[in-house]
Amino acid sequence: MAVNMEKKPHVLVFPFPAQGHMISLLDLTHALASHGLSVTVLTTPRNQSLLSPLLQRASSEGLRIQPLIIPLPPTEGLPLGCENMAQLPYHLIPLFMDSFKELAHPIEDWFQQQKQSSDYGFGPPVCIISDLVLGWTQNTAAKLGIPRIVYHPSGAFAVSVIYSLWKYLPHEEVSSDNDTVHIPEVPHPVSFPKYQISRLARAYKRSDPVSEFMRCSMNLNVKSWGTIINTFYDLEALYIDHVQGVSGRPVWSVGPLLPPALFEAKQRRTMIERGKPTSIDDSVCLQWLESRKEKSVIYICFGSQACLSNKQIEEIATGLEASEESFIWVIRDPPSSMPADEYGVIPQGFEDRMKRRGLIIRGWAPQLLILSHPSVGGFLTHCGWNSTLESITLGIPLITWPMNADQYINALLLVDYLKVGVRLCEGATTVPSRDDLRIAVKRLLGREGEEMRRIEELRRAAKRAVQEGGSSYKNVEDCVSEIKKLIVQLN
Ligand code: UDP
Repeated sequence: MAVNMEKKPHVLVFPFPAQGHMISLLDLTHALASHGLSVTVLTTPRNQSLLSPLLQRASSEGLRIQPLIIPLPPTEGLPLGCENMAQLPYHLIPLFMDSFKELAHPIEDWFQQQKQSSDYGFGPPVCIISDLVLGWTQNTAAKLGIPRIVYHPSGAFAVSVIYSLWKYLPHEEVSSDNDTVHIPEVPHPVSFPKYQISRLARAYKRSDPVSEFMRCSMNLNVKSWGTIINTFYDLEALYIDHVQGVSGRPVWSVGPLLPPALFEAKQRRTMIERGKPTSIDDSVCLQWLESRKEKSVIYICFGSQACLSNKQIEEIATGLEASEESFIWVIRDPPSSMPADEYGVIPQGFEDRMKRRGLIIRGWAPQLLILSHPSVGGFLTHCGWNSTLESITLGIPLITWPMNADQYINALLLVDYLKVGVRLCEGATTVPSRDDLRIAVKRLLGREGEEMRRIEELRRAAKRAVQEGGSSYKNVEDCVSEIKKLIVQLN
């Protein structure tokens, strides 16, 4: 293959369109381009706008990042035009993930066009970096004669468990939801009640084509040419080494993948948009935060997917009121698939009574702006990995309420192993106790817990990891240097 050596090596990045998956891979894309690669980012038409902040930044910094927009054919059983996991009911998620395999042929066609074009543009990519949900791209890459790197937006402990789950299906042996599932082939004995095992894995049915495709796709990840994980060595050394051992291939821990402004105290007040436009003006939010004392505010947000029932909201509201502490609480409206009168309703009179000490944001909050403000002293979270890393990086101890997916694994890591969190409850439909909430809020904001000391150590370690010479910084360099060697091999 003739490759113009003056051009920067070109990689195709393929994120999975769910906020929690996409945001950090776009940050990685920026890092790869900053380290001298050309990058094409593949997405579908309705997700195109999610690339805009990255593309604008790239153009102002002179980085070579271009979009590749490929239409997603309609899939029977999915709402027409469904191209993002947000607002999708859970039972449709396996089918939604499956639907992306329709992009395999268009990717192959695009690759051939890049090879044949006399004016190459970026030229053909030397490798594909794609989300773990898109394990099938391993076969696409093999067909094109290029390697594939799997990108994991979750932590290395979660990756260890996920690999084991899809390989051995240990939950199949267990019938009741509350019975214990032991996870084989992880660095130390770990077990979860069956209901805490990833719903995707639990939905697996032998001989069902969607399930079989999903399992095959997940297991292909282990065979990738390389693995990138959004974590850092001082946080998860044991599990990073384990994934390396299982895959027998390089594992690059490159996290925390966050906007560089976050690590510089003086730049933090600048607007930090993440994911999508926020539902509150940044200046209103900042003004409110400025009016609070240092570490006196609890921030409550359950990521991009979870939506609370009225009963859950009522219990949190009562606990918060009893705590007498200040709070910012992000409440999502229910998607159209949920009954609007049973979800997302705030008890009458609560907002009025809390006017002086609470800020409620309906919709999308500027989470990084909030977490990075000195007046925030605790984070009640569903333990999504991005929220987890953001909290660690900003030195905010956590109150944990995992609801889904890898969140139970992350909560275990935070509370029992890293000791930077206090457990509130577990489960998407669980109603937390108002007293437990009040006590947990008081504990974190009272700064009496061990969590404060431990989180401060991790905050410093996270900063070290991404600074020049730090473990994650060196891993990005190493990964890029391995990719640069590919251009020579392809010649
Ligand atoms: N986020 C945000 N505003 C919100 C909710 C979430 O900016 O109102 C961001 C948050 O900072 C994080 C991501 O969205 O980067 C959520 O990812 P996470 O892995 O925590 O949870 P998921 O959405 O995947 O459940």
